[in-house]
Amino acid sequence: MDITKIIDPLNDAQRKAVTAPSQAMLVLAGAGSGKTRVLVHRIAWQIQVENLSPHSILAVTFTNKAAKEMRNRIEELLDIPAHAMWIGTFHGIAHRLLRRHAKQAKLPETFQVMDSADQLRVIKRLLNALNLAEDKWPPRQVQWHINAQKDEGVRAKHTIETRDIYQQQMLAIYRAYEQQCDQAGLVDFAELLLRAHELLRDNPDVLDFYRQRFRQVHVDEFQDTNTIQYAWLRLLTRDSDNLFVVGDDDQSIYGWRGAKIENIYNFQRHYANHQVIKLEQNYRSTGNILKAANNIISVNEGRMGKELWTDSGAGELLSLYAAFNEQDEAYFVVERIRAWIGKNGSCNDVAILYRSNAQSRQFEEKLMTAGIPYRVYGGLRFFDRAEIKTALAYLRLMTNRDDDASFERIINTPTRGIGTKTIDDIRAIAQEHGISLWTAAIDLINRRQLSARASNALSGFLHLIKCVTEQSEGLELYEKVKLTIEKSGLIEFYQKAKIDNGEEKVENLEELVNAARSFVFDQENEEYLGELDMFLSFATLESGDMQGDDFDDCVQLMTLHSAKGLEFKLVFLVGMEEGLFPSQQSLDDAGRLEEERRLCYVGITRAMQQLYLSYAESRRLYGRETYPRPSRFLREIPAECMQEIRMRSHVNQPVTTIKPKKESLQAIGRYKHGQRVGHAKFGEGIILQIEGEGAQERVQINFNCAPKGEKAAGVKWLMLAYAKLDVL
Ligand code: ATP
Ligand code: MG
Repeated sequence: MDITKIIDPLNDAQRKAVTAPSQAMLVLAGAGSGKTRVLVHRIAWQIQVENLSPHSILAVTFTNKAAKEMRNRIEELLDIPAHAMWIGTFHGIAHRLLRRHAKQAKLPETFQVMDSADQLRVIKRLLNALNLAEDKWPPRQVQWHINAQKDEGVRAKHTIETRDIYQQQMLAIYRAYEQQCDQAGLVDFAELLLRAHELLRDNPDVLDFYRQRFRQVHVDEFQDTNTIQYAWLRLLTRDSDNLFVVGDDDQSIYGWRGAKIENIYNFQRHYANHQVIKLEQNYRSTGNILKAANNIISVNEGRMGKELWTDSGAGELLSLYAAFNEQDEAYFVVERIRAWIGKNGSCNDVAILYRSNAQSRQFEEKLMTAGIPYRVYGGLRFFDRAEIKTALAYLRLMTNRDDDASFERIINTPTRGIGTKTIDDIRAIAQEHGISLWTAAIDLINRRQLSARASNALSGFLHLIKCVTEQSEGLELYEKVKLTIEKSGLIEFYQKAKIDNGEEKVENLEELVNAARSFVFDQENEEYLGELDMFLSFATLESGDMQGDDFDDCVQLMTLHSAKGLEFKLVFLVGMEEGLFPSQQSLDDAGRLEEERRLCYVGITRAMQQLYLSYAESRRLYGRETYPRPSRFLREIPAECMQEIRMRSHVNQPVTTIKPKKESLQAIGRYKHGQRVGHAKFGEGIILQIEGEGAQERVQINFNCAPKGEKAAGVKWLMLAYAKLDVL
């Protein structure tokens, strides 16, 4: 038996963890120290040396990608197919259990799993049936409440009645929702976990079977397990102490979604004979990257405390780029990627990591223009997102009343009391007469068959579309988009919804206004494309092509949250600004701020060789122009690890690929493009761009004309109201 393949690529501590006799074990270690490697090698060891059958292995992690990778790595090590092992995500494994034991789980054999959009639809129908107004009982808030209860393992029947009217009503909704799902055989994501737990808890024979079967249970990213996940791990392993978990308290980033960092302590309490192994050598990153990460995380309090070191040498310094705006930031990143590719670097080794999904658009556009394939990972591309599609549907219906798909999409979004009965009637008329839904709707109102309520609701919708169309006449494209979003009521709709990503949806909608604003300056064709329908076709085309799929060599774009567990040679951590990262909501909450810092630690430690951090001095995000301060996390990186870079070679041209708007080509006030101006502090410079109006008017100036030997001030955006420029 050749065990060298399993043992040789491990250091002493890792080897100790991999070869330890069967017992409860916690490998607690920082990023890149080989926790996942240990877990994979441990499984291989158990099969090869301890002669465990692959059938008796259960390994759980958090993403499908991680599960797939784990399976591949085991197959590679053992040279046998790993399909007999149960390797998957918590949800995937729970689903498998329920399919096998539907009856004991009190589910019909044909039960269906709902995604969260389906779940929301069920909730809406239910609220309707219960005569509860959606403005008082926003469906997303209800959804959030139900899922949170389930994540804690709480059923409606467990909840003690209170005098609080709100709680009472929520409880009644929860109860009715459970009934409805049971009747229809529907299972939502949170239900998968809860039901699998109940299956094991309430059926001793089933539990016994799996306890016998799974001789070893392994969990990666243990720090992010929630109450119910831990509860079912505990059931499966209670007597036999055969739980092997790896995790890092410093990488706990899902507290806001119910993850319990305390599970690390619970584990140590519940498994009396456990062993803890700490790994301290990092194999992933250079010394500078690691030093930066260590320093940042050391600011957090109440850590379990561990230090990482590497013997791989200091490597290159981290690079910090202060962009003058978000376009410049994207341009800079794409230029660096181009250079990387030029030196035969692979696109797959490159990741752009950001805090908020709304940031991806700038990078997507620039990558597309540069012809560099990319993949937005763990999230939808900007124009594919539901809220963006919905807003675009309003705009489409405004330009074309016969666009039935758009009509259907928005007729009751946001909810305006147009029921399925009315919609069915409209469909029937349209079908009968071969007319569009819009015309059929007018027809239906004229027939006076609808109840007054339904008729009013439908007329209200038609009127809304007509009004916005009229009001937006003569407006700039971005103003049209802005007005439409405002009038549609989508913002309030998402704002009121108390869900994980309600805020994000609002931000994305506001970002759509920016997309429209910068669309006026078409980059590729260098021609004026201000029309709404041109914008709409652009949006359609955008959401198709250029996105490489899983197997292509493409740059990876993802949020910091989805980057967990992954590694890349070249990483860009962008948008390092107060209010963005750390996020606005965390600024006055010490607990959330610490979670943001852990997220930053996760981000930095994804980088193997090179790490670029960037922030923008001015950023148009979420429809607003802001002048953010650099992120506090940048100050927490030791100065000696980082160099600041400026793009000197590009400053003679506008660094954005934006072409100036027609009217700004003319002189705005006293200033013109290309004009030479003087500034008391920065010296002489040339105007590159002029933007905004009135007090918001600002200019971008290239101050790189400093006399030899003097330090040039670079390219800066200045507010004209304060800048005091002399025309030279
Ligand atoms: P994270 O906390 O980010 O999930 P991790 O602790 O799971 O990180 P791994 O992904 O297992 O770390 O390992 C990080 C990198 O170091 C991988 O490329 C892995 O192959 C490599 N590595 C781990 N241990 C060793 C070792 N003993 N010798 C050489 N390389 C190693
Ligand atoms: Mg890992």
